[in-house]
Amino acid sequence: MYLIFRCGCGRVLYAKEGVKTRKCTCGKTIKVKERRIFKKVETQADAAETVRQMQEDIYGGTGFQKASDLKH
Ligand SMILES: [Zn+2]
Repeated sequence: MYLIFRCGCGRVLYAKEGVKTRKCTCGKTIKVKERRIFKKVETQADAAETVRQMQEDIYGGTGFQKASDLKH
C-alpha cells in the first residue's frame, strides 16, 4: 500500500506504507504519520500516476514543469 500526501511546499508525494519519513525535492523531510493522507493506493505505479494527476490539478497541467520535476 502507498500513501499519497502533500508537503508544506505544496508538492504531492507518495510513500510506501510503513515508511516513516520522506524527503521532498524542496529539501524538507516529512514525517509521513504527521501528514494528512489524501489517498491510499495498491501499487507504486498507481501512486506515481495519482501524484502526477494531483500535480496537474494543482499546477494546471502542462504549463508548469521544472527540470527537477521530470522523471528520471
Ligand atoms: Zn516540499
